[in-house]
Amino acid sequence: DVDRIVPVTETYKLANRKFHPDPTTVKAGPASIGPDNMTIMAGPCAVETEDQLMLIAKAVKASGATILRGGAYKPRTSPYSFQGLEEEGLRYMQEAGKETGLATICEVVSREAIEAAVKYVDMIQIGARNMQNFILLKEAGRSGLPVLLKRGLSATIEEWLNAAEYIIAEGNPNVVLCERGIRTFETSTRNTLDLSAVPVLKERTHLPVIVDPSHATGVYKYVAPLAKAAVACGADGLMIEVHNDPAHALSDGPQSLTFEKFEKLTGELAPYISLA
Ligand code: PEP
Repeated sequence: DVDRIVPVTETYKLANRKFHPDPTTVKAGPASIGPDNMTIMAGPCAVETEDQLMLIAKAVKASGATILRGGAYKPRTSPYSFQGLEEEGLRYMQEAGKETGLATICEVVSREAIEAAVKYVDMIQIGARNMQNFILLKEAGRSGLPVLLKRGLSATIEEWLNAAEYIIAEGNPNVVLCERGIRTFETSTRNTLDLSAVPVLKERTHLPVIVDPSHATGVYKYVAPLAKAAVACGADGLMIEVHNDPAHALSDGPQSLTFEKFEKLTGELAPYISLA
């Protein structure tokens, strides 16, 4: 194959573009993710209180987001950090979704979390740390909800697509891939955003691809330039952390945009994207 310098093994089938040439659009409640529009998912890293979430939901909706993100089960590096409100947080997500018309997404970390999530949110997220938790992937595949699958901290694209295959093989074709940075030797950013993954994935899979510049960089100042770069290289959407008071956020404040910064970013992107 003259197009290839590096040979590709492609052990995945259901996620493989070769066998499914048309791009997939994934529906999540009132929102959709696919090639026809740029989907913006935004919200706090962690759901903290009912009022905080409602305030953020209204602000991100006003700036063009169609999906509200918010963590109720937080896989934190330190066991002493805020671990999330669990089912109570999911309830607040549901209320904020109903009030604003936004679709909702929440990370799940266990079968119990999936069982709770199906009662309250429109889409579930498998985080980077669980990308190769194959039992959880199978459970997510059986949940009936669309799944956002983040790239593992040190996962190759082939491993990531095989993780997606686990979900689809359970009868759930509604999988969206999210590039969120990988571990490299560089320490100036929390992770290194691998934007080359976007065109590579577009070639190898029919699944929608979104980019999370917040977790990739860990630094709010770098979020806007990388969000724009993600749009430029063909991503179908963005996941961006937004907080009403980043300095006092219970999780990942340094990478969170204020309402003003988020509004500025979506305004700057508007000429280049068609928002849902
Ligand atoms: C998150 O989106 O809240 C999160 C923890 O992301 P990641 O799994 O990419 O670290």
